[in-house]
Amino acid sequence: MFDEFSIKSLIRPVPDFPKPGVVFRDITPLFQSPRALRLVADSFIQRYVESDFSHIAAMDARGFLIGSIIAYELNKPLILFRKQGKLPADVLAESYQTEYGEALLEVHADSLCEGDSVLIFDDLIATGGTLLAAARLVRRMGATVHEAAAIIDLPELGGSQKLHDSGIPTFCLTAFA
Ligand code: 5GP
Repeated sequence: MFDEFSIKSLIRPVPDFPKPGVVFRDITPLFQSPRALRLVADSFIQRYVESDFSHIAAMDARGFLIGSIIAYELNKPLILFRKQGKLPADVLAESYQTEYGEALLEVHADSLCEGDSVLIFDDLIATGGTLLAAARLVRRMGATVHEAAAIIDLPELGGSQKLHDSGIPTFCLTAFA
């Protein structure tokens, strides 16, 4: 059974990282607990095992960790959305604002086709900039977003609300106010 309290206790708050005034939610302790990692992965697998979507898109870099486990378990193709300059073939790119500044998100241009339906996955939703940029890239390839999912939501930063306002359902296992 999913135990939100034990998951939360393994997400370490790190004050003033990466800059003063920001409390970074560090998920590395969660990955050091095989039981917690299994709980987190199984929760997503349970939610999506009966769902009708074609691909999983995981965000660079922490989104890759659970995203690839879900793709493996659900036998779905996995697409990597990467920070600028990491993908070798032709890319589509979208710029976006993060909590910390401007960034560029890229995906291989031939990753998706019209009619594909994509679960977009990251470790955490803050301003929503990353997943909104991913959604724009998905839509540029003619595909649709099934849902945006993450381990952690930071609702005060407004990202999950913005995703919702853009017509994208969101699902997070836990939240920090
Ligand atoms: P957003 O684009 O929603 O503003 O920020 C989410 C992205 O930034 C995710 O890719 C996430 O990995 C990273 N991020 C921002 N803040 C944090 C944080 O406090 N903890 C973790 N683990 N990742 C964060």
